[in-house]
Amino acid sequence: MTKLLETEGLQAFYGDFQALFGVDISVGESEAVALIGANGAGKSTFLKALTGLVPSRAKTLSFNGAPVSGWPADRIHRAGMALVPEGRRLFPSLSVEENLLVGAAGGRSGAWNLDAVYDLFPDLVEKRRNPGTALSGGQQQMVAIGRALVRDPKLFLFDEPLSNLDAKLRVEMRSEIKKLHHKLGATMVYVTHDQIEAMTLATKIVVLKGGVVQQIGSPSEIYNRPANLFVADFMGSPAMNLIPAKARRNGSGTRIEIDREGGAPVVLHDTHAGDLPEDIILGLRPEDIAEAGFRAGEDVQEAECLIDMVEPAGADTYVVSRLGGTSMTARLHAETSAHPGESMTLAFDLGKVSYFSPESGQRLN
Ligand code: ATP
Repeated sequence: MTKLLETEGLQAFYGDFQALFGVDISVGESEAVALIGANGAGKSTFLKALTGLVPSRAKTLSFNGAPVSGWPADRIHRAGMALVPEGRRLFPSLSVEENLLVGAAGGRSGAWNLDAVYDLFPDLVEKRRNPGTALSGGQQQMVAIGRALVRDPKLFLFDEPLSNLDAKLRVEMRSEIKKLHHKLGATMVYVTHDQIEAMTLATKIVVLKGGVVQQIGSPSEIYNRPANLFVADFMGSPAMNLIPAKARRNGSGTRIEIDREGGAPVVLHDTHAGDLPEDIILGLRPEDIAEAGFRAGEDVQEAECLIDMVEPAGADTYVVSRLGGTSMTARLHAETSAHPGESMTLAFDLGKVSYFSPESGQRLN
């Protein structure tokens, strides 16, 4: 895959404040990369550093084969990076089409590709002569994206483009952006703090915290094999259960012991765990815990748990129970007989387990 964008050791600064600490990311042609992290993680700063809007330093900052470090924003814009900022910001006195063409004159080829916009967003065709204010929220968002698309850019940079939309519109617009990627093979970097957006849109996810990359991987790698406790906790809703435990090697594998207040520890046997230190954090996603009898397989282990809370959620029921001294959420089937205050045997799929070091927070398996 041809690399379109590459950063190595990218640092960014607001005066004395350093917001990015050596970010290494590469974006291949036709890739959709989601940059995800909590508020203040440095996601928008990454886009601003790429486009010359904040001062940055890097070992490598190259776009389309050329080093662009230190280039002014307008030159980067002309080279084919198009930033779609947060919010819609249409000019009310201009028509929809005029709004689409604002700023387009500096496009890569000098030509305007209005057809690409109307092909992707046919809703805008009959509205083209209407004022920008006569559009629905979703249509205004289409114009905001169309304004980048009309320039036929090589790389789209989306900065939380859907954050101001209601839940239904977000889902609709998410598929429009996915279409942009699939239909046109558009290359994009997509900033969000919404993990569903990241999982559904991206071919590659970058998790950022405090200006430092935590993990880069496919959506399934990030979800199934989080590199550390931060990623494990951040990606997934409800979050991955993280349970302190002890690991002891025995003949047939590893004995995992979870302390239980005032009783014998819960013991699970993992035959594939490999070498683990004694103190571990066991990570298991809610969907990898089932009611006994509803999950089979050689790695499935059962334990008795005391139910604290039952939360029906339509298709599934979330059941909060205690395993040792730790609260744990299981995603059970809708008709579960779980009842608060009662015990229930739950089945744990250790084939899906993650182990982390409590000291370093890093993944161990
Ligand atoms: P959000 O999801 O809230 O938009 P983000 O991940 O995009 O967050 P950034 O906006 O990139 O985060 O901010 C990264 C850090 O840089 C934060 O600590 C923020 O306070 C700081 N920062 C951002 N803009 C400025 C600025 N203009 N001056 C000083 N510090 C700034």
